[in-house]
Amino acid sequence: MAVPKRRKSKSAKGKRRSHDFLTPINLTVCPMCKQSVPTHKVHEECLAEHLKNGAPGRMPF
Ligand SMILES: [Zn+2]
Repeated sequence: MAVPKRRKSKSAKGKRRSHDFLTPINLTVCPMCKQSVPTHKVHEECLAEHLKNGAPGRMPF
């Protein structure tokens, strides 16, 4: 098996790993059910509830 000629420096290792990490999902509290839900997304469960009740006008979120 091929083996690297030189060990990678701490700096090179750090630069490579600078792209490796995931960012946490932003959460907010749903105004209808008070659960934690991702921002900028319609909460599907509450959307169904909202449409079933036939409440007119804009969604509360
Ligand atoms: Zn909800």
